[in-house]
Amino acid sequence: MNRRKMTRSQYYAAKRKQRDKENEAKKHIAKTIEEYKGLASSNIQSLAKYPDIIVYLREKFPSIDIDYENVDITFAPPYRMKRDFPGAGGFFFPDLKELVISGDTTLRRNDYCKRILESCLQDDEVVLHEMLHFVSREISSMKTSSEYEEEFAYTNTIPYLRKKGYSDSKIIENYLMAYCVQGVLPQVLREMKQPKLEGQKLKVFIDKNENIIYSKAFDFGLKMITEYDVRNNNVHDNEEKEHVGRFSTLEL
Ligand SMILES: [Zn+2]
Repeated sequence: MNRRKMTRSQYYAAKRKQRDKENEAKKHIAKTIEEYKGLASSNIQSLAKYPDIIVYLREKFPSIDIDYENVDITFAPPYRMKRDFPGAGGFFFPDLKELVISGDTTLRRNDYCKRILESCLQDDEVVLHEMLHFVSREISSMKTSSEYEEEFAYTNTIPYLRKKGYSDSKIIENYLMAYCVQGVLPQVLREMKQPKLEGQKLKVFIDKNENIIYSKAFDFGLKMITEYDVRNNNVHDNEEKEHVGRFSTLEL
C-alpha cells in the first residue's frame, strides 16, 4: 500500500537507506570480530586443525573451491558472544569469510528449555555447521531464506555425524534438537491456543510443556533424516548438483 504512494525517487531513496543500514551493521560486525581477535581470552584456530572436516567437505562438494586450510575460526569469549550476538552459538560472516564461535560449549545454543537444549555439541560439530554456511554461500552468492540455509547446514552434517558413530537418535537429541524445536513450536502454540507467546512467557510455556514439545521435535527430526536419505538416494548422492540446479532455475 505504501509502495503505491511512493514516487520512484522516494522508492530508490528508501532502498538506498536500507542498504546503508545493512552496510553499517556489517561494518559493526567486522569491527566486533576484529575486537574478538585482539582479546587474550579468544582462541584463534585454523580450519587446518580439523582435517576430517576438510576431507568431508571436499568429498561432498568437489566443485567448490574454498581455501580451507586458510580459514580462521575465532572462538570468542562466551560473555561477549552473549552480549553482542544474543542467541547465536556461532556464525559465518560472509564479508570476511570468517567463522566466529562461542568458546563455551554450554552456551552455544538458545538458552530456553534447559533439558531440551542442553548442549552436547563438540567443537568440530559447530565448526562443520558454520563451514556448511560458507559452502552454501559459495554455491550461490544469492541470499536465500535463513530457513533454507539452516536446513542445508543441519542436514548436510548428518553423514558426518554418522561417520563419527552417532545413531540417528543421538543425532537428533544432540545436534538437530534446537532446530527441530523451532520447527514444531508454531504448531504446538497454535494447537494449545497460545499463538502469540513471546519472550519470558514463551520460555515458561516451553518449560511447562517440555515433554510434548520434545516428542514432537524428535518426530520432526526423524522426518528430516528420512527425507534427507530419500533425497540423496534419488539423486545418487549428488545433492550439490540438485542444490545448484534449484538456484539456476531461479536465475532465469
Ligand atoms: Zn546455522
